[in-house]
Amino acid sequence: MTIEKAYGSFSPISQTLEEILKRAAAKKLSTLLFLNKKSESGSIYCKSCKSHTIVPKQVDVCPNCGSADIYFNSVNINSLTKTLNSKLSTLNSLDIQTAAAFYKLLPKKYDVAVHVKTDSVLNFPDFASSEKLYAQITNLKKLAKKLVVLQTYNPDSPVIKNAVSSNYSGFYNEELVQRKTFSYPPFALLIKITISGKNAEDKSEKLVEDLKQSTINNQQLTILGPYLANLRYNIILKLPLPNYSLATRTKTLEKLKKHLPKEKGIKIIVEPNTLL
Ligand SMILES: [Zn+2]
Repeated sequence: MTIEKAYGSFSPISQTLEEILKRAAAKKLSTLLFLNKKSESGSIYCKSCKSHTIVPKQVDVCPNCGSADIYFNSVNINSLTKTLNSKLSTLNSLDIQTAAAFYKLLPKKYDVAVHVKTDSVLNFPDFASSEKLYAQITNLKKLAKKLVVLQTYNPDSPVIKNAVSSNYSGFYNEELVQRKTFSYPPFALLIKITISGKNAEDKSEKLVEDLKQSTINNQQLTILGPYLANLRYNIILKLPLPNYSLATRTKTLEKLKKHLPKEKGIKIIVEPNTLL
């Protein structure tokens, strides 16, 4: 995809993929185009700082440098169908699917399976995104009889390399080092606290000050925020865990609750799906 970009092409269907799809159609082979769902997410190419960023929602300025001179591109089933129609003479024997394709009782097999936007998984702000991508690539390999195609700007990413070669232990060891370095599960309990309502900003700042003075399991907490997202103030906490047993996690959560004011507008979300 980096080569595509160098030629000024931002199409979700690369030249290489277009050729593969045409050849597959000529041979009457079946093809799956897989999209990592999040229809509102898209990618931004900034013409000022030349950065390429995946964003969960459309934005007006570059998240990297603030320039408004950006190119926003969102890919969903509808837009991808349009693109394909403009490039191919027929869409017969071609399916566009999201993760639902993996979870059928009798999943349909295809000759060719394509991960259209591999990087959209990796760049999503979620500590488990590598794990998710590893699983998606593995699932695509199970569904594909002849060929798997991954469109990526990061062909050297360890997750992609390990998934391609089915090197599960390599992925596991790499991932565990990352999780330990950044205090993610299973080395810490990830908590999102959301604060809404009157004086939410002041309340969240005071809470962070209090939490900075606190220890849990005899260790200081890692605190991120407060930051504004979806009209609420979020605080992300990483609570150190001696182990990841359910009993330890429950006890640790009880210890945290003692540090939080009991108010309606304050919510605790354990291991949130998203930090937004
Ligand atoms: Zn920029």
